[in-house]
Amino acid sequence: EPGLYIVATPIGNLGDITQRAIDTLRSVAAVACEDTRVTGKLLQHLGLRARMIRYDDHASEATRDHLLQIAATEPLALVSDAGTPLISDPGYRLVRAARERGIAVTSLPGPSAAVVALTLAGLPSDRFLFAGFLPGKDKARADVLTELAAVKATLVFYETAPRLLDSLTAIATVLPDREVGVARELTKRFEECRTGSPAALSAHYAAHPPKGEIVLLVAPPGAAAAPAEADVDALLRAALAGAK
Ligand code: SAM
Repeated sequence: EPGLYIVATPIGNLGDITQRAIDTLRSVAAVACEDTRVTGKLLQHLGLRARMIRYDDHASEATRDHLLQIAATEPLALVSDAGTPLISDPGYRLVRAARERGIAVTSLPGPSAAVVALTLAGLPSDRFLFAGFLPGKDKARADVLTELAAVKATLVFYETAPRLLDSLTAIATVLPDREVGVARELTKRFEECRTGSPAALSAHYAAHPPKGEIVLLVAPPGAAAAPAEADVDALLRAALAGAK
């Protein structure tokens, strides 16, 4: 069937691809992707060969037009480097343009790091606000946290290892009483999920610089309290002892 197929791919564990995703990637005329090397590896792992076309939301109108011309007469897949396209990844403009032209859009669900983290950390999951990446600059980061302080939902951020400590420090300043979760390397060999006060987690990651991909969660106001002062001291000592 012609149309645009949004295909989620694994976020680390190659077993996390659906049968429907495999069948679709096998039958499409082309695969629009962020990085042909990354997607090429996935296709190779699946034993598939497909025409790949580079695409992101900064692509020219002409590129988007070309993709939609394909999707109008043949099936076209959109994948990102990992996880669900459009979730802090390209695709939104392409989906919008497809809908405007009356091209059928089908979404094949699969992993997304935000949801995996939320199901792992034990923070309230009935309401959550996904806020993408925090800004890299101190002032802008603090402003976003201040703006989100009143939101009665678990906050979910994407994070990078080099920036984790700065973000935890900012949360310790702006939202010191919130329980925080750090979910790292989800679905991979060294998967880890830690929860605690922002101060305790800062101390831990100062002593153990993190590697890999990270989702940061912040409990809603008034939810499960962050550990008491005594616990923080104990955690700090444990973190420092572990660093030796
Ligand atoms: N579209 C992807 C999804 O659905 O999860 C997210 C793409 S975004 C550009 C990349 C960010 O997602 C990383 O910086 C990290 O915050 C998060 N992420 C992706 N894979 C992850 C994993 N295996 N463990 C933890 N976080 C991950």
